[in-house]
Amino acid sequence: MQQTDPIVVVGAGIGGLVAALSLHQAGHDVHVYESVDEVRALGVGINLLPHAVRELDALGLLDRLVAASVQPTTLVYFTKRGQKIWDEPRGLAAGYRWPQCSVHRGTLQQLLLQATLEQLGETRVHTGHHLVDLENHDDHAVAHFARVRGGAAEVSVRGSIVVAADGIHSAVRSLRYPDEGMPRWNGALLWRGLTTAPPVFDGRTMVWCGHPRQKFIGYPVADLPDGRQAFNFIAELTVEGQELAEREDWNRAGVLEEFIGPFEDWRFDWLDVPALIRSAPGTFRFPMVDRDPVDRWSFGRTTLLGDAAHPMYPIGSNGASQAILDARVLTGCLRDIDDPVAALERYDAERRPATAAIVLANRGFGPELPMQLVEERAPDGFDSIGDVITPDEIAQATEGYRRTAGFALQSLAQGDSLADLDWSR
Ligand SMILES: Cc1cc2nc3c(=O)[nH]c(=O)nc-3n(C[C@H](O)[C@H](O)[C@H](O)COP(=O)(O)OP(=O)(O)OC[C@H]3O[C@@H](n4cnc5c(N)ncnc54)[C@H](O)[C@@H]3O)c2cc1C
Repeated sequence: MQQTDPIVVVGAGIGGLVAALSLHQAGHDVHVYESVDEVRALGVGINLLPHAVRELDALGLLDRLVAASVQPTTLVYFTKRGQKIWDEPRGLAAGYRWPQCSVHRGTLQQLLLQATLEQLGETRVHTGHHLVDLENHDDHAVAHFARVRGGAAEVSVRGSIVVAADGIHSAVRSLRYPDEGMPRWNGALLWRGLTTAPPVFDGRTMVWCGHPRQKFIGYPVADLPDGRQAFNFIAELTVEGQELAEREDWNRAGVLEEFIGPFEDWRFDWLDVPALIRSAPGTFRFPMVDRDPVDRWSFGRTTLLGDAAHPMYPIGSNGASQAILDARVLTGCLRDIDDPVAALERYDAERRPATAAIVLANRGFGPELPMQLVEERAPDGFDSIGDVITPDEIAQATEGYRRTAGFALQSLAQGDSLADLDWSR
């Protein structure tokens, strides 16, 4: 790509920082503009799937990521009574060349920020810049930033292209789709928390319990020196007949009494769920929202990436993973196609349909289909799981989801990073 102006990346979240690192590694001059004054380690746990970890490996970040995370080797599905439905190996244990990594979102963001500051230099990361407007020209784009969030533009920056990784409330997306309105809510609320606990099973196991209308998900994100672990959990309930009164906010505090009741009898011989929830210092409440896939991300010299492009239900470990894949495909397209406008269109043509399929799969039961089937067929429990569902049925559902999300074992066998593929075709 011919370029005189730098690439402007909007948003220093997971997607924006990986885009910055990846484009810098490919030889571009990149500047990152972030709305908040200080990037703090916010959020709770997230998971990176092996195909996303492969891309961070290609960026030289694998050792740091492994040191900062827990690599689960097993995922176990249970019923709401704690009866086991199914277990499957994950990451290296499943035969992938890369692990799955469970990590605190803030830890991952700080790791990426540190790498960005080291590799691009401090002068390339601009906090306190909230994007409010965007111009597209034949040979450049201009991003307008306010120093106070939502204020009038005070700083205008020219870029060869502008990559908008500004998250679920993307200002760039709303400039492109002004009538889109609020995200869609499916009636479920998530209470996300982090506590300190002795290892559950072997300390490398993710547990999914219940069914899509009432669910508990738990996994460790760090080993602690005293043998305990930082343990992430999500308690999810579908609530009937309520309007969503709030704009979704990753940092909204949850109230224990709002959700603990239905989980009170989830005291299994392998985990006391209500005691674990109560041991957390607090929770964050987040509604299950997404948006309909749009027809276009790339407009001239501007494009969308990560949650700005494809906000989806936080199911199946896709939020951060898919943002990382976006960044790597974008890098490959800009390398292989000289005309930046055509490169952004190629990126759009590749990633938009792929991520739209995940948005839609997550509106169904996604990877939770086996839990739903068992709840429908045996709501009062069972003597033998084989009487309720066959291993083939489960394997078909889980493998189908892996294919949709792009991490079927076979598809990673070749080993090439996405950015190294030929994107000229
Ligand atoms: C504070 C926070 C906490 C989160 N916690 C969790 C969690 O616990 N679990 C989970 O699954 N996911 C969480 N997420 C979402 C998760 O990070 C994303 O789904 C995923 O990593 C994709 O990342 P992204 O870079 O597209 O978006 P994000 O990680 O959301 O990053 C977007 C970035 O853009 C910045 N930004 C927003 N608007 C503007 C603007 N107009 N101008 C400039 N910059 C702007 C934001 O401040 C943010 O840094 C959280 C996101 C945030 C922002």
